[in-house]
Amino acid sequence: MTSRRILALQDVVNRVPVELNKTNQSVSQYYGSDVFGLDAMREYLSEEAFDSIQHSINQGSIVERKMADQIAASMKAWAQSKHVTHFTHWFQPLSGATAEKHDGFFEPIAGGRAIERFSGNQLVQQEPDASSFPNGGIRNTFEARGYTAWDPTSPAFIWGNTLCIPTIFVSYTGEALDFKTPLLKSLHVLDKAATEVCQYFDKNVTKVIATLGWEQEYFLVDSALYNIRYDLQQTGRTLFGHAPAKGQQLEDHYWGSIPERVSAYMRDFEYESHLLGIPVRTRHNEVAPAQFECAPVFEEANLAVDHNQLLMDVMEKVAIRHNFRVLLHEKPYAGVNGSGKHNNWSLATTGGKNLLSPGKTPKTNLQFLTFFVNTVKAVYEHADLLRASIASANNDHRLGANEAPPAIMSVFLGDQLSKVLDDLEKAIHSGKMSPEEKTALKMNIGRIPDILLDNTDRNRTSPFAFTGNKFEFRAVGSSANCGWPMTVLNAIVAESLIAFKNEVDTLINDKVEKDEAIFQTLKKYIIESKRIRFEGNGYGDEWKKEAKKRGLNNIPTTPGALEAMTSKKSKALFESLGILNHIELEARHEISLETYTKKIQIESRIIADMVNNQIIPAALNYQKNLVDSVRGMKEFMSADDFKTVAKTQIELIKEISDRVTTIKTEADAMTEERKKANTLDSAEKQAHAYCDKVKPFFDTMRYNVDKLEGIVDDATWPLPKYREMLYLR
Ligand code: ADP
Ligand code: MG
Repeated sequence: MTSRRILALQDVVNRVPVELNKTNQSVSQYYGSDVFGLDAMREYLSEEAFDSIQHSINQGSIVERKMADQIAASMKAWAQSKHVTHFTHWFQPLSGATAEKHDGFFEPIAGGRAIERFSGNQLVQQEPDASSFPNGGIRNTFEARGYTAWDPTSPAFIWGNTLCIPTIFVSYTGEALDFKTPLLKSLHVLDKAATEVCQYFDKNVTKVIATLGWEQEYFLVDSALYNIRYDLQQTGRTLFGHAPAKGQQLEDHYWGSIPERVSAYMRDFEYESHLLGIPVRTRHNEVAPAQFECAPVFEEANLAVDHNQLLMDVMEKVAIRHNFRVLLHEKPYAGVNGSGKHNNWSLATTGGKNLLSPGKTPKTNLQFLTFFVNTVKAVYEHADLLRASIASANNDHRLGANEAPPAIMSVFLGDQLSKVLDDLEKAIHSGKMSPEEKTALKMNIGRIPDILLDNTDRNRTSPFAFTGNKFEFRAVGSSANCGWPMTVLNAIVAESLIAFKNEVDTLINDKVEKDEAIFQTLKKYIIESKRIRFEGNGYGDEWKKEAKKRGLNNIPTTPGALEAMTSKKSKALFESLGILNHIELEARHEISLETYTKKIQIESRIIADMVNNQIIPAALNYQKNLVDSVRGMKEFMSADDFKTVAKTQIELIKEISDRVTTIKTEADAMTEERKKANTLDSAEKQAHAYCDKVKPFFDTMRYNVDKLEGIVDDATWPLPKYREMLYLR
């Protein structure tokens, strides 16, 4: 009987690129045309409504109800001009995906007729029946309902036939149930803290924004193969699979030419992204076969996060048109590089000045150093929280796997800036500085080259690297909502800047001159945060030892890493800044633990199913063939001949028996551990049990399954093999 795998492979062979080029226009002609952005607003809104919404975007003020009605009516008119029939509040619940519930614009009226309507109330607030979204017990304790509220700082857009309105999602008692709410709060707090520090250098600065440019890595697999791999469908990763003979050893895929089918797909999703105003601009192959990356031009962080969430959705939907499935999982294939989502982060004034870009004068460079040193200090203070912010069952496969940043948080600065900080530390002494010393210091600072870009991006092994004019947080996972790590980063930097300002002001009050007060405080921060700086190879075992000596944590798995979310220090951070209270943090902690447990639980069940329904039957089937063959030999051979000739086949039969026995025994033992774990009485205990007791079975079972893949008849092996999934034409 032909296996489903062989049939699927025939589909794959016959694929041709699907050209869906809908336009010969250049990007600028259609860019953002599905967004209710400035142009659409100007065309559809009254001057009064336009000013009101702009004010609310720039100042964070609330749009008046009266205006909301006008804006809603205009949005509806604009959307209808594009054949849109429905609207939805679009939000980012803690489950990680985006959520939407579509409502029609039409409303029945008397006489059996209908009209299209969209009111200010519908725009501003909705009450989705949200009881099935994760809430960590918050809504159970308080109110069973949650509501979504419009975020005017991220423009409405059309996706499919639906007008999507970006919103926050909170419980009736006001606790955040999503990623956007704390992100917006963190951006606000950071703005305030950074603006105040900017005032030391430039009185004209009134607002500071965080900028984010993410790089999204992903794999593509043919949908015919995906459709018969339950593990990929249900968990996003292959739970079994023998490494291909030709893997990524040759590194010939990286920046090689993009296969035609893939490039047709990329053009298509880029086209869709551009309609939505997502500024994706870069595309290339990644290190692993069938792995790719795309990156946009950076944007204000809240918008960038929305755009990343939307892009992941666009990528998934468009892939299906091309008979591909996009794998956003951090580690779809064992033994092959995983996927990350590098978060390039910086701070900018509304005038467009990048505060993490070295300047040309001593004054601007002192400002640069201030933000630079404060960021390093913040990462030092809250390394564990930052680690927690990227912890997930998926990302555990990646961190520290000698191909991705390690689970130890450190900061890479590059030679030049390390030297600048070392020199500063030496040049400033604690007593009062002479005018000559101060001048010399400023001269030195003035000499920081503004072309660091070329030699700072070399260390790819660092989880948090300075890359010339921004920091790059590389440990973020490819499927993650990067709103959360960005919230943490904004918060810790804000905290550091607030403390910095206090210290400098105290010195100034003590009659220390301003520049000297800044120098002294920077020196203090440089010394305090020294331990987090690491310029060497983050993949090496040496670093693990060294980090341990320095007292830096290395927490390889999620349940342990998540503890930092609710530490005293983290609670104090978020509560003092008004970003999340302790109830919200505890709820988030619990949700993260539960998500972890569920993921491992599902994987464990799928492993057992696949082993019992697919792997063992295939192995026994082949074994039966071998047994028949041996029996046949015995019939017409002399006993002596048989002994020598049948030896290999008999060994094969035995090997299959042994491996099947091991797999089956382990599957049963794993199920027992799962049962035990399920009876534990806290989310924390369950997560640890799944991590320490259930998960270890995955590896031994996989080892034996992969060995079977190596010996069982290729024609009857049920699962698409790595070599078949990883090579795209
Ligand atoms: P690579 O890291 O691959 O060498 P680049 O350094 O050119 O590529 O940029 C990577 C990402 O960094 C892009 O998504 C880009 O938008 C983003 N980026 C560049 N400047 C900034 C900035 N000031 N703030 C945030 N992101 C930025
Ligand atoms: Mg990069």
